Amino acid sequence: MAEFDFDLFVIGAGSGGVRAARMAAAGGMRVAVAEDRYMGGTCVNVGCVPKKLFVYASSYRESFEDSVGFGWQPGAAAFDWETLRDNNAREVARLNGIYRNLLANAGVTVIDGRARIEERQLVAVGEQRFSAERILVATGGWPYVPDIPGREYALTSNEIFSMAEFPRRILVVGGGYIAVEFAGIFAGLGAETSLSYRRDLFLRGFDRDVRTFVRDEMGKKGVTLHFNHRVEAIEKQSDDSLLVHMEGGGSLAVDTVLYATGRAPNVSGLGLEELGVVMHRDGTISVDDNFRTNVHSIYALGDVTGEPQLTPVALAEAMALVKHFQTGETTEIDYNNIPTAVFCQPNIGTVGLSEEEARDSGIPVVIYKSEFRPMRHTVSGREERTLMKLVVDSSSDRVIGAHMVGPDAGEIIQGIAIAIKAGATKSVFDQTIGIHPTAAEEFVTMRTPAG
Ligand code: FAD
Ligand code: NDP
Repeated sequence: MAEFDFDLFVIGAGSGGVRAARMAAAGGMRVAVAEDRYMGGTCVNVGCVPKKLFVYASSYRESFEDSVGFGWQPGAAAFDWETLRDNNAREVARLNGIYRNLLANAGVTVIDGRARIEERQLVAVGEQRFSAERILVATGGWPYVPDIPGREYALTSNEIFSMAEFPRRILVVGGGYIAVEFAGIFAGLGAETSLSYRRDLFLRGFDRDVRTFVRDEMGKKGVTLHFNHRVEAIEKQSDDSLLVHMEGGGSLAVDTVLYATGRAPNVSGLGLEELGVVMHRDGTISVDDNFRTNVHSIYALGDVTGEPQLTPVALAEAMALVKHFQTGETTEIDYNNIPTAVFCQPNIGTVGLSEEEARDSGIPVVIYKSEFRPMRHTVSGREERTLMKLVVDSSSDRVIGAHMVGPDAGEIIQGIAIAIKAGATKSVFDQTIGIHPTAAEEFVTMRTPAG
C-alpha cells in the first residue's frame, strides 16, 4: 500500500493549481486538488475572462458612434446591464464545468472545500484528512481595501461583475491595472466615471510616456481623473448613494465606489505560520528556484508568492514545478521580459524596460517614438491617438523595451516580445518588412531617434 494518499495535494484550483495538478497527473502522479470557491480561480471567475468580456461590452458605444462616418445610421443604442451580467455569469459557469472536466479527465481527485495544512504532509478539508508526499499552495490573492471609515460600502473586483444594478456614477480608487481597466469599462458602458489616485500620475512602474499618454486618452473619453487625491471616508446617504470624503476637504457623490488598491496573498487559515513556513513581510510565501518553501514537503507558486501577478506567469511556474518533480531539473523562468497588457481604452501593451528603468540602470539608450491617429479615426473623426515606443541599448543595438498604447496593443506586443526574447537588434527590426496597412508596421519603420 502507498505510504501517502496522494503524491501531490494542490490547494487552490486557479490558474497555477489547475495547470500543476493536470500536468502532474498526466505524468503519472496521484494528485488531488482542493478548491473552496470556484473552479478556475481568479482569472476565470472574477479576473481576466470576465474583465475582457466587459471591455468588449464597453467598446460598442464608440463603435456605434464611429460607424456614422463610414455611412452607417445606427438606431438609438441602449445598454442593458442585466444582459451583460447574466451572459457573463453563464460563460463563467460554462468555463467552471470545463475546468472540472479537465481535472477529472486527467485523473485528478477534486475535493470541494477549504483546505488547511495540519502537518507537513497532512491536509484537512472539513472533517476529512489526506496525507500527501508533497503539498502545493496555489491559493492566489484577495483584494486589499485600506482600513478607512465606510470601507464596508466599497466594492472590489470580486463583486463588481455581479452587481444588482448598474451605477449612474462610479468612483474607482487606485492607479494600477484594475483601476484603469475598470474606469475604461464603466465610462464606455455609460456611467459618469471618476478615478482617484494617491500620487501625481497613475500606472507607476510603466514607461512615463505611456502613463501620460493614457492619462490624456482617458481624459478624452470622459473619465474624470483625480491625482494626488486620497479618500478619507465613505458615508452612506439616506437614498443609498455614497458621499466620498477626501483628505484635505472636498467630497464626491457617487452610487458605487470600486476599490482597486492591490491584492494580498490568500493565506489566512492555511496553517502556514503554525508549521513555520517563511513568509515575506507582505505575507507572500518565500520559495526557492524550485518553488519549495523552507518546509521541504510544501511548495507554493502563482500570486501567493508575489509579483508579477499574471496568469501566464502562474502557468509557467506550474509547468516548471511539474518538470522539476519529474526530472529533478530547475527551469529558469525569465521574469525580466514578461510582456503584459493593460486593457484600458486604448490598450497598453508593454515588454522589457521602460525608458526610465533603462536610464536608471546606466544603460546608454536611444529612444524611437511614433505617435499618430489610427487610420480608422481619419474617417470616424474620433480624436484618439496611438503611441509606439522602442527603447534601444545603443552599445549593443538590442531592443530592450517596446511600449504601445493603442487598439490591440496586447495582440501586437505579444509578437514583439518574441523578438526581444530572441535578442533582436534595432537593425533586425529595420530589416523586417512591414505589413501594410497596419498600426503594427510602425514598429519596423521608426528610423529617427527621439532621444
Ligand atoms: P488564483 O487564480 O487566484 O487561484 C487561487 C484559487 O485558490 C482560488 O480559486 C481560491 O478560491 C482557491 N483557494 C484559496 N485558498 C484556498 C484554500 N485554503 N482551500 C481551497 N482553495 C483555496 N492576469 C492576466 O494575466 N491577465 C489579465 O487580464 C488579468 N486580469 C485580471 C483582472 C482582475 C480583476 C484580477 C483580480 C486579476 C487579473 N489577472 C490577470 C491576474 C490573474 O487573475 C492572476 O494572476 C491569476 O489568477 C493567479 O493565479 P493563481 O493560480 O496564483 O491564483
Ligand atoms: P496594482 O498593484 O496594479 O495597483 C494597486 C494600486 O493601488 C496602485 O496604484 C497603488 O498605488 C494603489 N494603492 C495601494 N495601496 C493603496 C492605499 N492604501 N490607498 C490608496 N491607493 C493604494 O493592483 P490592482 O489591484 O490594480 O491589481 C492587482 C494585480 O492583478 C496587478 O498588479 C496585476 O498583476 C494583476 N492584474 C493584471 C491585469 C492584466 O494583466 N491586464 C489586469 C488586472 C489585474 P501606488 O502606485 O502608489 O503604489
